[in-house]
Amino acid sequence: GATGEQLLAASGVLMQFGGLKALNNVDLNVRRGSIHGLIGPNGSGKSTMMNVLTGIYTPTAGSVAFAGHSLAGLSPAQIAQRGVARTFQNVQLFGEMSALHNVMVGLHHSFRSNLIDVALHLPRYLREHRAARLRALALLRFVGLGELAGEEARNLPYGQQRLLEIARALALDPQLLLLDEPAAGLTAPDIVALRAIIQKIREHGVTVILIEHHMDVVMSLCDTVSVLDFGQKIAEGGPAEVQANEKVIEAYLGG
Ligand code: ADP
Ligand code: MG
Repeated sequence: GATGEQLLAASGVLMQFGGLKALNNVDLNVRRGSIHGLIGPNGSGKSTMMNVLTGIYTPTAGSVAFAGHSLAGLSPAQIAQRGVARTFQNVQLFGEMSALHNVMVGLHHSFRSNLIDVALHLPRYLREHRAARLRALALLRFVGLGELAGEEARNLPYGQQRLLEIARALALDPQLLLLDEPAAGLTAPDIVALRAIIQKIREHGVTVILIEHHMDVVMSLCDTVSVLDFGQKIAEGGPAEVQANEKVIEAYLGG
């Protein structure tokens, strides 16, 4: 589809945990090709929204449509197959596996799924395995980790673990990538590298939803920013406009 058309449309999303409305009637419209920021104080519902969009949580009410199709009733794996990839607020890697294999895990859907299939289709399996390996290497290079393919994930510095998670998410060849606080805990030089990578991801045509506390990152990357506070969307617009919004300033000062 064309840039600028709506890729993701969440409407009236309510996510209730007992008496808590973690999301309260939230609409979110993300244009294809954009970097869409999702900001708000701690506990405002940002990660919950990401969990709703990726099928980890089933919203109490409301709907989510991706590329014109409802995601209702789909599992996280099915939503991923449709082109929605994500990273987590807390890095989730296979620590004892190499960087390369962590990315190959993200490609696993292209493999035969059981050993009998592998045995019956061995030449094809080996061909696919080799292709997956090459693609994983290309993704590692894309995020600047080409030299570290053989390192165990747990031995990588934290900033590089976050980049590895992004490479793994990209292995799905997503249309939409959701990044939950990718700059958290990164050093200043790592943040500069991360910014450039997110730009490159967008230039490759991938739409991005970016949850981030580093305002300079949000302001320099995002086309549109939505602001949550206590589960409600309190502002939305261009980054400069949103930053100057009184409700937004108050939400951050009050939080
Ligand atoms: P943010 O990512 O903006 O910091 P979260 O989405 O993680 O905020 O959390 C929003 C609110 O929902 C918080 O009050 C949090 O404690 C609550 N919450 C999130 N997930 C759950 C859950 N699985 N069960 C109960 N409460 C939850
Ligand atoms: Mg969060």
